[in-house]
Amino acid sequence: MEIFDTHCHIDLPAFDADREAVISHARELGVTHMVVPAIVARGWKRLVSICNEHPGLLPALGLHPMFTSEHIDADITALAETVEHTRPVAIGEIGLDYFIDGADRKRQQTLLEAQLDLARQFDLPVILHVRKAHDNMLATLRRLRVCGGTAHAFSGSLQQAQQYIDLGFRLGFGGMITHERATRLRRLACELPAEALVLETDAPDMPGAAHRGQRNSPEYLPEYLHVLAQLRNEDPETLARQTSANAREVFGLGSL
Ligand SMILES: [Zn+2]
Repeated sequence: MEIFDTHCHIDLPAFDADREAVISHARELGVTHMVVPAIVARGWKRLVSICNEHPGLLPALGLHPMFTSEHIDADITALAETVEHTRPVAIGEIGLDYFIDGADRKRQQTLLEAQLDLARQFDLPVILHVRKAHDNMLATLRRLRVCGGTAHAFSGSLQQAQQYIDLGFRLGFGGMITHERATRLRRLACELPAEALVLETDAPDMPGAAHRGQRNSPEYLPEYLHVLAQLRNEDPETLARQTSANAREVFGLGSL
């Protein structure tokens, strides 16, 4: 079974003590691929070198919308150069986050559009982080069309999901669906066609119900897969195959 983690921050210090063990244990459990999205420019080099050292780890490069105060204009030029040299599988994670206190929405929008331009220039998909801003994101994507990507940790409405799908996006689901109280999210994860879904952990953040208060890990992705399969009344292996095929298609990896 091939399980594809489309969003895993395995490069972060939270994994410094045991990264090798986590990656090899995850692989034993079937998690053969992880996309590692970037957060700030100073992390790109390390992220890429960790990915190069491990087959199945795939870098995405970009500037995270929660850290706008750390991004400088020169980072966009640097991003273009780094993408040119390292050929990541996606631009990400990028987006709009209106949920955080004191978000500089204008700056987020400027950085988003500059990075969508780069994705168009390099014909790369994008990994989106969006909170409380789906309608603005969808309007931006209609104006600046990219070849597709993932809407990570999706928590919008069914109508918004459909609009992302129409724009070539897949919706990412992970540990949050294991929380019994997440009824709206669970319903959404059942209503969407399997062709629209990708799996993700967002490790070390967003742990599932069984790991509340702990570090999230790609080792838990098989658990999240099983919960999703159970909710959807589907066979876990079939769902693993479908979501991995979706991820391969999004990130241009070809089929198995
Ligand atoms: Zn993330």
